[in-house]
Amino acid sequence: MGFKSKARKKRAAADAAAGRTGKREKEEFVGEVRCDVAGCENFADKKIGGRRLAYDRAAEVWGEAGIEGQSRRISICKAHYREWKKATKDDFDEWS
Ligand SMILES: [Zn+2]
Repeated sequence: MGFKSKARKKRAAADAAAGRTGKREKEEFVGEVRCDVAGCENFADKKIGGRRLAYDRAAEVWGEAGIEGQSRRISICKAHYREWKKATKDDFDEWS
């Protein structure tokens, strides 16, 4: 019988480590998703303006060395999304 409760405990510990259970901090937002731009410490959760971006599109702006994520889609924080938008918008402006 011990197995299930043990598993539950383990999971709770993992959740706590990931900051999922924190309800006390209302002032400081603790997200679940990290920005994948190299060196960025911000969260990329959707509710605080984070975005998911295709790896290739992000690499156009920061280069492959500037992205820490390995997946085809990466997460970026609000600040980096704005930076990305600005960079890609500048590209479009060259066409007009
Ligand atoms: Zn960022």
